[in-house]
Amino acid sequence: MIIQENAVSARPSKISAWMKIQAEKPEIMAEVERLLGRRTRDIRLSGELLSLFWERTWSQTAKIIRSWMIWVAILDVLTLALNMVLVPSSVAQAMLLPGSIVPPVAVAVILVWRRPRGPWVEGASLILGLFLILLSIALVGLSAGGEFHERYLNIMLFVAITAIIIFSIPLLWTASIAVLSLSIYFVFQLKNPGIGMWHAVDGALFFASGMVATIVARRTMTILAQKAFLLELRDKGRVAELAEANDRLERLTRTDPLTGLANRRWMTEMVGRLWNDRRSCSDGAAMLMCDIDDFKYLNDHLGHAEGDRCLIRVASIIKDCLKREQDQVARYGGEEFFVLLPATGEDGALAMAEHIRRSVEAAALPNPTSRVSCHVTLSIGIAVSTPDTDEISSELLQRQADAALYRAKGTGRNRVVIHQQGEPGTSAAGTTTATLQ
Ligand code: GH3
Ligand code: MG
Ligand code: MG
Repeated sequence: MIIQENAVSARPSKISAWMKIQAEKPEIMAEVERLLGRRTRDIRLSGELLSLFWERTWSQTAKIIRSWMIWVAILDVLTLALNMVLVPSSVAQAMLLPGSIVPPVAVAVILVWRRPRGPWVEGASLILGLFLILLSIALVGLSAGGEFHERYLNIMLFVAITAIIIFSIPLLWTASIAVLSLSIYFVFQLKNPGIGMWHAVDGALFFASGMVATIVARRTMTILAQKAFLLELRDKGRVAELAEANDRLERLTRTDPLTGLANRRWMTEMVGRLWNDRRSCSDGAAMLMCDIDDFKYLNDHLGHAEGDRCLIRVASIIKDCLKREQDQVARYGGEEFFVLLPATGEDGALAMAEHIRRSVEAAALPNPTSRVSCHVTLSIGIAVSTPDTDEISSELLQRQADAALYRAKGTGRNRVVIHQQGEPGTSAAGTTTATLQ
C-alpha cells in the first residue's frame, strides 16, 4: 500500500522478541494455551517451549549456581582453616589434601557457567563438579577418621540438599545429584569402621526418603516457574496482538481506502506537526492542490468504476513523482490531491507541479468527453511560504493554494498556477497566474 511507504512507515515498529515468537509461531501460542488449560501439576514443557523456558531462566540459574560454588569454596577454605586451630594438627593436615579439591573444581564450574554452552556441557560440568565436591567432603571425613567420618558425610548430604533445592535445573540432573550423594554416603559409610552394614543401609534409606521429598519440592517449584513463564508468554502474545490490531486500526483511520494514499485527516495532522517544527527550522514549505479536470464527465461517460481506476492511477503517478522522503501526498477530497513539499521554494514547487501535471497527461488515461483533452488532465494550484516571508499559517497557505487552483480552473484547466507572495491571496482576484504549459 502506498500509505505504508508514505506516511506510516516512519513510525518505528517495536516488535519485541516475544512478539516475534507470537507473530511467527502461532503454534507455540496454541501450545501455551493448551498447557495452561491443564491442572498446574500436569504442566510439562517440551520441545521448543522447554528450550525457550531454559533460555529465559538461564542467566538466573547460572547466577545461582555460580554463587553456590563460591559459597562452597569459601566454606571449604574456612572449615579447613578452623580445623587447623581446633583439631590436632595431624588430623587437620590429613584433611588438607582432599579438602583442597573443592576450590579449583568450584572455579572450573563457575568458568563453564559464565555463558550458555549447551545442555550437555552444562549438565556434565555441573554433575561432575558436584560429584567431585561431594567426594572431596566425604574424603575429608575419611582421612580425618573417627567422629569426623560420619560428621563429614552428613555435611556432604547437607551440601547436596542445598544444591538440589536451589538449582532450577532439569529433573534428570537433580536426580543424578541425589543418586551420587546417596551413593557416596552409602559407600563411605560401609568403610566406616565405627558402624555395621545395616547401620549404613538404615542411614542411606533415611536420607534417601529426605532426598525424595527434596526432589519433589524442587519439582513443584520448577512447575510453578514454568507456569509463570507460560502466563508471561500468553500476556506478551496478547499485548502483541493488541498492538498489531491498534496499528492496523490506526493505519486504516489514516489511509484512503481507494488509493492507499494518506487521507485528509492524516495530512492535516502532518501539516500541523510541520508547522510546529517550522518555528525552529523555518525552512519554508510548498503546498500543491491538484484537481482532475472534468472528472464528472469521465464518471458520466465511462462509469464510476472506471472513475475509481483513474483515481488509483493518478494517485500512483503523483506518488511516483515525489522522490524526497519528506514530500507527502494525500487524497484530499473526491478527485483532489494535496501535496506537501517541505523546505521547497517557488522554483522547486513549480517544477514539481509541472512534472506531476505532465506525468498525468503523459499517462493518456481516457476522458473522452473532457472539455480540455481526450485524456485525463490535472489543474494544480501552488502556494509557497519561504523563510524570508512573514510567518504564515498553514490554513492561509492552503487557502492560497485553493485560490490558485480556482484560478487554474478559470483560465482553461490542465495548468499550474502559483499564488504570488505578498498578495492577499485568499480570493481568486488576489492570485497571480503563472501558467506553465
Ligand atoms: P473540474 O474540472 O471543475 O474539477 O470539474 P470536475 O468534473 O472534475 O469537478 P466536480 O467537482 O464537478 O466533480 C467531481 C466528481 O468526482 C463528482 C463526483 O461524483 C466524483 N467523485 C468523487 N469521489 C469519487 C470517487 O471516489 N470515485 C469516483 N468514481 N468518482 C468520484
Ligand atoms: Mg475536478
Ligand atoms: Mg474537485
